[in-house]
Amino acid sequence: MQKQQFFSHKFKQRIKLDFSLIKKGIKCPNCKKLYTISIEKNKKYMICIQCKNTFKRRTVYYFNIMELAVIKGEEGFTLQEAIQWCEAENVYSVRRICNEYLECEGQRYKRYYLKNIERS
Ligand SMILES: [Zn+2]
Repeated sequence: MQKQQFFSHKFKQRIKLDFSLIKKGIKCPNCKKLYTISIEKNKKYMICIQCKNTFKRRTVYYFNIMELAVIKGEEGFTLQEAIQWCEAENVYSVRRICNEYLECEGQRYKRYYLKNIERS
């Protein structure tokens, strides 16, 4: 609890990146273009219309969530933000990836962070 307060206090002194101003949506893990991959329900594979590569849905989500984690850094992010970020309908896929590859803090309102991030 104390650690948490200290943490948020410290963070307020920094210049916060305006999350709402960053373009959201799925980016291609290969050509890094936005909106070239559409994630369809019940489809495990999808094609980027730009570079014509095929990706597993999981790979696409993973890439985009990791990008979010890097942008957010020590601030971390919530599952809701990750879903927004990926414009995901499939909450479970996003949550599974977050739980598997990221560190999390909190019980009910979890925040996710990159593993081994330097949190000062
Ligand atoms: Zn592509």
